[in-house]
Amino acid sequence: MDRSDVVVVGGGVIGVATAYYLARRGRSVTLLEQDQLCRGASLGNAGQITPAHMPLNQTGVLLRNLRWMLLPSSPLYVPLRFDLNFFAWLWRFHRACNPRHIDRATEILCRLGRASVELFDQLADEFDFRYRKPGRLEICRTQKALHDVRHEADLLQSFGFDFHMLSREELVEREPAVTGEVAGAVEFPDSYYCDPKQLVLNMAKAAERLGVKIHTETPATDLCVESNGSVRVVTPDGEFQAGAAVLACGAWPPRLARRLGLRLPVEPGKGYHLEIDLPAEPPKTPMMLVEQRIFVTPYDSFLRLAGTMEFSGFNLRQHPARLKMLADGASRYLSGIDGANVQSRWCHLRPMSPDGLPMIGPAPRAPNVWIAAGHGMLGLTQGPITGKLIADALVDGHVSEELAELRPDRFGKSR
Ligand SMILES: Cc1cc2nc3c(=O)[nH]c(=O)nc-3n(C[C@H](O)[C@H](O)[C@H](O)COP(=O)(O)OP(=O)(O)OC[C@H]3O[C@@H](n4cnc5c(N)ncnc54)[C@H](O)[C@@H]3O)c2cc1C
Repeated sequence: MDRSDVVVVGGGVIGVATAYYLARRGRSVTLLEQDQLCRGASLGNAGQITPAHMPLNQTGVLLRNLRWMLLPSSPLYVPLRFDLNFFAWLWRFHRACNPRHIDRATEILCRLGRASVELFDQLADEFDFRYRKPGRLEICRTQKALHDVRHEADLLQSFGFDFHMLSREELVEREPAVTGEVAGAVEFPDSYYCDPKQLVLNMAKAAERLGVKIHTETPATDLCVESNGSVRVVTPDGEFQAGAAVLACGAWPPRLARRLGLRLPVEPGKGYHLEIDLPAEPPKTPMMLVEQRIFVTPYDSFLRLAGTMEFSGFNLRQHPARLKMLADGASRYLSGIDGANVQSRWCHLRPMSPDGLPMIGPAPRAPNVWIAAGHGMLGLTQGPITGKLIADALVDGHVSEELAELRPDRFGKSR
């Protein structure tokens, strides 16, 4: 039987960062991944590191969008399905759509984001992951959207993040790729981007250099906590014993957590990307096209258009209308998108929590088993800080105040 201080389950950005920071604190670590490393949501996301962020929960968001949520071509798509867990998730989401929660969650997300960026800076000294700091533009076609983004920017500024307003003329001068009817943009200078796949794979190599043992194609099928508190993780290739385990399984159904009596309300939020050939005049800065909620990230040999949120359960079916919506939506703001050669079509599942905050902490009935789930739209941004907070807590033996707010059992109903 394999023995180590900690077994980490999941080889996405969250699991790999956790293994890396544990190894840096001198712990022996085994990481189990059911597939290959970085094949989940961490692979093809928009690559944008956005420390200043609000939760998806917005006052009245569900009621406001009810009209078009059933349309496959809308940014938020919720096909009709009968799923009691999803209804319970929606109810929790709705309850978190209030100004008090939004302020509190924004403060927490900004705090985590700022701390993560410091770690990204350090990681960039250790290995390459195409980390760049050009800021980010949120581009609006309507004055109403520009007004709303300005309002959000004011809130984010109160948490220490600057912004600049750009008129249509200033925007076009800076980004000649912008065409069509746009009202202007808000620039967030404290925003970065990277190649998420390169980040995870190079961080995994750095972890291996520190002694982490990585087992791919090794699904964790069961988990037992012994009477002395140690943990046994069962796989088809044998058992892995450790003093502690961390479950970083992304949007996969949280079956292992359920074995510990913990029901994690993680709902898969499907997102897509299209990678197209670089247009003649490619955007220079990562962007968010606000009305369509499309994220545009320029890489050396392609432009990645990513976004859309689809709550259709746990599946990886690609809906052609969703991919078309990315291209059609982006071409309303940018030239050179229409008819461009497509290099890659991809979708994957964001692990969405109902209150917009990740769930990080020990399982209530098994304090040596930690959960790291529900990072939603911000898992890349929060990967390093999640790994570090867990490593520090496990090594130092106490749960920091910061983590107390993210307890995985905060939704109650542990059975
Ligand atoms: C279209 C899109 C755009 C996005 N853009 C951004 C962005 O710009 N910035 C940002 O910060 N975030 C972004 N995100 C969100 C981000 O990608 C996710 O939050 C993050 O990747 C979640 O990481 P994870 O490690 O929890 O999950 P994953 O990357 O999905 O990894 C989970 C891993 O666990 C493994 N696993 C599951 N169960 C088991 C088991 N039983 N045994 C062994 N292994 C198991 C899976 O195989 C998988 O490899 C985006 C997401 C999408 C879909």
